[in-house]
Amino acid sequence: MNAYDAGRMTDLLQQSHKLSVVDSPQQADLIILNTCHIREKADDKIFSELGRLKKSTYRHDPKKRYIFGVGGCVGQAQGAELFKRAPFVDLVFGPQNYHHLPHMLDQVLNGKRQLHDIEIPSESKFDALPTAPDSGFSAGVPVQEGCDRFCTYCVVPFTRGREWSRPVEDILKEVKNLTDKGAKEIELLGQNVNAYLGHDQAGVEHDLALLIRQVSFVEGVERIRFVTSHPGDMSDDLVNAFAEIPELNSYMHLPIQSGSDKILAAMERGHSVAEYMGWIEKLKKACPKITLASDFIVGFPGETEEDFQNTLDLISEVRYGHAYSFLFSPRPGTVAADMEGFIPQEVSQERLERLQELINTIQVEENKAQIGLVESVLVEGEAKKGQGLLAGRTSGYRRINFPAPVELIGTLANVLVTQARPNSLIGELKG
Ligand code: SAH
Ligand code: SF4
Repeated sequence: MNAYDAGRMTDLLQQSHKLSVVDSPQQADLIILNTCHIREKADDKIFSELGRLKKSTYRHDPKKRYIFGVGGCVGQAQGAELFKRAPFVDLVFGPQNYHHLPHMLDQVLNGKRQLHDIEIPSESKFDALPTAPDSGFSAGVPVQEGCDRFCTYCVVPFTRGREWSRPVEDILKEVKNLTDKGAKEIELLGQNVNAYLGHDQAGVEHDLALLIRQVSFVEGVERIRFVTSHPGDMSDDLVNAFAEIPELNSYMHLPIQSGSDKILAAMERGHSVAEYMGWIEKLKKACPKITLASDFIVGFPGETEEDFQNTLDLISEVRYGHAYSFLFSPRPGTVAADMEGFIPQEVSQERLERLQELINTIQVEENKAQIGLVESVLVEGEAKKGQGLLAGRTSGYRRINFPAPVELIGTLANVLVTQARPNSLIGELKG
């Protein structure tokens, strides 16, 4: 989502102020950091990065007036407070305000300083954005933003705002625009994408399953993916979509965070481990080759060794194709930040290492299990390493490299998997 937002800021400023993208901050007139607030580490990085940028641009040209902006969720969370830690910043805005950038930039150019715009507006930023740019063969399209779930550890509902779904026609128009420009795969994006509930012009309600079906009808769409889903918003229709819609990739990112019912309750995730496993079973039945992915938080307040062991057991049972894992990070303003039962850093760190080792072991085994299969691969370009090799992704979102002529870039090719690496596959073209 942040990558999409950054791309749209670029389009907008290209159109309004004829700005173009440069290769280094020193060459720039305007430098925007599009930021993430989800964990403390990401947050801290912003200030060291701002300091570094300020110093290097000043050293490069002490007379030049570089304009600095901070957008995204740190901008949203900090607002005017940010100027205290980084007074040289000119613009602060949130993820729902970046369509105001041209106007804000005009004000800075007219001599205004330290502007902030974080009031979540009632109008949709999408209406103010230029048509979607050329984004390559695989392109993201936001369909849903914000979150109403308020998991006790999470800042998203505060920074991205309330849940909101884009109208169906707007999405289909953007998809058509992207396929006209060469996109083959459409990635439907949302903080809680399977809570999507939009309407078409006739007022007909569409859930995510119906939206996927509509997107699959758009000419040129060969593949569809969607991220990220919440187990509490699963539906049988969405499960069936994997069996019924050939364009839908056999991949699902369905984070559970913890394998302990006690911790899930403390996180207020709104479902049990058994309910989650019920959905996993249904998904595997509907699409036996599905690749499953999850996020995990390790060291949530009150997590005992037994709770943690339950998480490891769940990972072994589901056998994820890949997973993201994080140390619990207390975020200002969230309920969990003030919870008792803080887990010492050395304990949670050691648990995280054990969890990542298990995830990696299973990932390697699952990659090896692909050997001998013929996969449909979206060929995205030449491989970084190895001459004459092309690189792409399987429908289960595994990276694969294989020797083939460059003419195949941008097409779907059938590739036999011949070798497995920890993070990718090797293959050969199959007729
Ligand atoms: N809506 C998605 C996830 C959005 S945030 C969902 O509910 O699954 C992406 C991931 O960041 C989360 O899945 C969680 O694993 C992690 N995360 C969010 N807040 C966190 C925190 N305070 N500490 C550590 N990890 C966190
Ligand atoms: Fe955050 Fe996801 Fe929970 Fe929403 S559902 S509060 S985005 S973790």
